[in-house]
Amino acid sequence: MSKTVGIIGAGQLGMMLGEAAQELGIRCVFLDPGDNPPAQGRGELLQAAFDDESALAELAAKVDVVTYEFENVPVDAVRSIADGTPVYPPAPALETAQDRLSEKRLFESLDIPLPGYRQIDTRADLDAAAEALGLPVVIKTRRFGYDGKGQFVVRNAADLDAAWAELGGQALIAEAWVAFDYEVSIIATRGIDGDVVLFPLTRNTHSGGILDTSVAPLDSSELETVARDYGRRLVEHFDYVGTVALELFVVGDRLLANEFAPRVHNSGHWTIEGAATSQFENHMRAVAGLPLGDPAARGHAAMKNLIGRMPVGDFEGLHDYGKSERPGRKLGHITITATTAGERDSRLEALNQRLAKG
Ligand code: AMP
Repeated sequence: MSKTVGIIGAGQLGMMLGEAAQELGIRCVFLDPGDNPPAQGRGELLQAAFDDESALAELAAKVDVVTYEFENVPVDAVRSIADGTPVYPPAPALETAQDRLSEKRLFESLDIPLPGYRQIDTRADLDAAAEALGLPVVIKTRRFGYDGKGQFVVRNAADLDAAWAELGGQALIAEAWVAFDYEVSIIATRGIDGDVVLFPLTRNTHSGGILDTSVAPLDSSELETVARDYGRRLVEHFDYVGTVALELFVVGDRLLANEFAPRVHNSGHWTIEGAATSQFENHMRAVAGLPLGDPAARGHAAMKNLIGRMPVGDFEGLHDYGKSERPGRKLGHITITATTAGERDSRLEALNQRLAKG
């Protein structure tokens, strides 16, 4: 019998989860404070704050299982729902991902290499971290950072005052600056029965801290093998259920973990057109207890985010989230698929030129 899935959050990730659910015959109930969120129309919508206990209880009562599409869901809320209704991914994964310090300690415990870091609570800690890690150093808030927000790059000692003025007083970490060659992500889905599938390694380019472009698959079986191993360690550690994204820096032939997101991820949007089964479908399959689908790439894909302004005209592969324009806001994306990497790259270049013309 088909299940009803509650989804906390009805943004674009909820929208694409809802689209995958419709294809699978799974009914969705969303909880979101927004008036007209992107997932509107993909299921029933409860309009309430994410920490509204009675709304969360109402959501849990209406569904067989609850999941979420963003990582700032209050962990206590997830734990209280989980007393009566299963919540996937499990609360410990959410709790760890919400705190950059816990996340780094987890990577260490799983033997996943990561950049040098220090915990910072006082101004003296900041000076000591800059001394120990060397400059440049990146100062990040431990909680509620996303898309490069809550970060300060200290390039010389004179910037330490400015970094403290901006971020001091919150729980922070300092991270060694990584002169990476490029960034990648590995996306995995684990089912309730413990089956794990890993999507092809994806190469990501950021602009101003926000993801701009993802391309997959990559032409590096060595990196892919290592990244898959790290992705598998992560999901197995949590007895994870659902989709997770692990973001990594590539430095020569090494991979250093940056962070993980306990949810479907922007760098996996290309899988809708570019993989046999998308990250969204596999997430819904996992939480609903269905067998997982094949994550293999179909040809070569690129995903270009549309940020701040929607382009005018027709674009093949366009996903419009139906949001109003605002600087830095993710409004949609375009996926390109091709039979060769060369064809994909030239079509991506043509798309970038067309978007630059407005
Ligand atoms: P984050 O929110 O930690 O994913 O950071 C957003 C982006 O900032 C990353 O995708 C990188 O492009 C850049 N960044 C973050 N941390 C570092 C670092 N330690 N060294 C170099 N670049 C970084």
